[in-house]
Amino acid sequence: MSDAGLGGRPLLDPFGATLVEDYERLYVEFGIQPLKPLLPKIPNPSAAMRRGVIFGHRDFERIIEAMRSGEEFAVMSGIKPTGEFHLGTLMTVREIIYFQQQGATAFYCIADIEAYEDNGIPFEESEKIAINNVADILALGFDPKRGYIYRQSKEERVKNLAIIFSRGATLATMRAIYGERHMGLYLSALIQAGDILMPQLEDFGGPKPTVVPVGVDQDPHIRFTRDLADRFHSRFKFIPPSSTYHKLIRALDGGYKMSKRDPMSYFTLDEEPSVIAKKIFYAFTGGQPTAEEQRKLGGNPDICPIFDLYLFHFFEDDKDVIELYNDCKCGNILCGEDKARLTRIVTEFVKEHQRKKCQYIDKAREILGVE
Ligand code: SF4
Repeated sequence: MSDAGLGGRPLLDPFGATLVEDYERLYVEFGIQPLKPLLPKIPNPSAAMRRGVIFGHRDFERIIEAMRSGEEFAVMSGIKPTGEFHLGTLMTVREIIYFQQQGATAFYCIADIEAYEDNGIPFEESEKIAINNVADILALGFDPKRGYIYRQSKEERVKNLAIIFSRGATLATMRAIYGERHMGLYLSALIQAGDILMPQLEDFGGPKPTVVPVGVDQDPHIRFTRDLADRFHSRFKFIPPSSTYHKLIRALDGGYKMSKRDPMSYFTLDEEPSVIAKKIFYAFTGGQPTAEEQRKLGGNPDICPIFDLYLFHFFEDDKDVIELYNDCKCGNILCGEDKARLTRIVTEFVKEHQRKKCQYIDKAREILGVE
């Protein structure tokens, strides 16, 4: 298995930039399995699964079996509290909520240790961000009565597991998976393994199938944790975690890097709709330089962030996605009118989300035990 990417860093790098042009490569080089052949067996596949946005998995058959049989299972994922929710984090939260709605007990981790180790954000600051993020997930539909929301830094069980797991990993293993990194990032990887396997502790009902829906850049954590689940099986009886992988959404400038240094490359769910509208207006497209050429030659939705926004988040009906793809290719639609329609849909969504979210701030404080 090759893990080498450019510049000695792993190709799939949870602590750095991951750029995957060819997802097929991941099947061959990393043993990620394609999700498509499983689609007919999934009782109620999500839009992201049907559209190929979630394209790969490890051991997902185990979760399908649980969904079909009514066996207990868990979904576990988390987000670093580094700022307001954007389009990438929205994807992960929607996946957690989807599995919760399919019957899973949901674990949402506020990865504040990783936010410190990877981004240097102190806990006092990440606590404020976490309140805001938790209000987001509640507004998006996360049901706290059938879920567990926690901060890594406050969860003793996660930290204890990380200490136990540290005996199962050598420096050479960490280097091979994550590249040459400071010790804090290796520690944070052990903490994440604790997050992923905590739902299987006796406190939460013991071993159970657990799915971790993540962006494909997080696969090293999954591989590492599956290995630890095997190593510590005799003690904990862990079932190796399953995973699903989503593609990474394009930034508004057409690249894959939504960067805080370039606020025009993304928008957050907290932004003023008028600001978001401006960002969409200036976004890169796969269109032609002139309307005349667009009508004659058609556009290229495969490189277009506007198309990605519809595909990932803002068209509910698959038929609308297919229609836009074909209309774009055939030159039946111009980028200006397409952006105007998207702006209307996004504005409505964001306004409604912000209205709901206001009502959940107190609840978020209560869940996090913050005065
Ligand atoms: S018509 Fe829409 S999908 Fe096609 S290139 Fe223009 S903005 Fe992108």
